[in-house]
Amino acid sequence: MLCILIICLLFFFMKEPYMQNFNVYAQELPAESAAADEQEPDMETGQKPIVVVIDPGHGGENLGGEFQDYTEKEMTITVARAMKEELEKYEGIAVYLTRTGDEELSLDERCAYAESVNADFMFCLHFNLSEHHTLFGAECWVSAFGENYSKGYSFASVEMELLQGLGLYSRGIKTRLNDAGIDYYGIIRHSTERGIPCVLIEHCHLDQENDQPFYDHDEKLIEFGKLDATAVAKYFNLRSEELGTDYSDYRNVSVDVPAHVVAPDETEPDVCMIEIIDQNVQNGEVTVQVSAADYDSGMLYYTYSYDNGETFSELQKWPDKSQDTFRFTMQVPPRILPRIIVNGYNGYDLYTASNMITLPSMDYKTEEEIATELARKEAQESVSQSVTPKKDYTEITYDKNETKKAAPEQMSFTYFLAVCGVCALLVLSMVVSMVFILGGRRKRRRRRHRKRKD
Ligand SMILES: [Zn+2]
Repeated sequence: MLCILIICLLFFFMKEPYMQNFNVYAQELPAESAAADEQEPDMETGQKPIVVVIDPGHGGENLGGEFQDYTEKEMTITVARAMKEELEKYEGIAVYLTRTGDEELSLDERCAYAESVNADFMFCLHFNLSEHHTLFGAECWVSAFGENYSKGYSFASVEMELLQGLGLYSRGIKTRLNDAGIDYYGIIRHSTERGIPCVLIEHCHLDQENDQPFYDHDEKLIEFGKLDATAVAKYFNLRSEELGTDYSDYRNVSVDVPAHVVAPDETEPDVCMIEIIDQNVQNGEVTVQVSAADYDSGMLYYTYSYDNGETFSELQKWPDKSQDTFRFTMQVPPRILPRIIVNGYNGYDLYTASNMITLPSMDYKTEEEIATELARKEAQESVSQSVTPKKDYTEITYDKNETKKAAPEQMSFTYFLAVCGVCALLVLSMVVSMVFILGGRRKRRRRRHRKRKD
């Protein structure tokens, strides 16, 4: 009985805390006879017109480069049409397109067509993509041989000057050879075989954000076409009454006919060295002086690293290609051991890594950290401002006290009921015990009484 009582009391007191927690070549190509008609000598000068063939790269199943919603074959035909339209505003020129629609032509077919119209020059229009989406800028590819090299280089100089004027970064005028030691690009190789000078124009890179603003609208592609036409007009000293322009006095870059093949640069930059000019421990800015040179193709880009070459910055433009030495300032994160390296790239995208320089770690607050701290302070201030004046605070504490007061009252009532229950159990158990005790005494008296009788 006493055990039941203790268990009941223990249960009661333990329970309380828990209650609170993406073919039409034969039909569309201009007939050769048509070409011959257009090449009739000019009535006034008696001179035959200059014949230019524009080759919009790719077509048909050959899409060319694709990036986002842009497809190279569509872009090149837009540029080509605009180029033809603009060039036809000049006197003394006959212009042809290798394709006027979405035809798919082989490189040899394009060159055969240029030969069929007695082309003086062929201009191949393209847009570029790079393997790692890192390269940006415009470039021209020319034949590595003889007169085709000198004429190609001379025209490309005009073209590149205009593209740079537009804001594009120049990746240069280059040659490329295949393993057999002849022109790598088929269109240049086949036109060179037919004695037609040819320049492959890579207007810009589709996959690099630096170049995106130059092609992201059809109007800009038309501008490329007009620019290409202007380059041709300058190169051939053309005049246009319609446009009111006269390039008859334009002086082209004189390029000697090379006696030997003009081989591409296949070696990395000759030298790339760095030295630290300044380290600002207050803001993490490190000024680096770079001295690099490539005596074949010149310097083109550089990248920098502060973690010993584990990660590099995006490609940066070489500030002045006529200079081998320049300074730049890089941002180095705080609380790391800066290990500075610069990679210098030449005109053929080959690089040489610089010496590595280790600097003392810098303990400064980054702009993000300062901004986070400022935001936290502002949040704290706005909280303290939104808290009501002292009088109300008193009322809030009073309310809290009231809530706290109500709880003990409920507790004491529960407590009272529990105590009553325990007492009732206690009384009941006492009564039952008394009944058993008294019943036992009576039985013993009767037994004694019977024994006496016996
Ligand atoms: Zn292309």
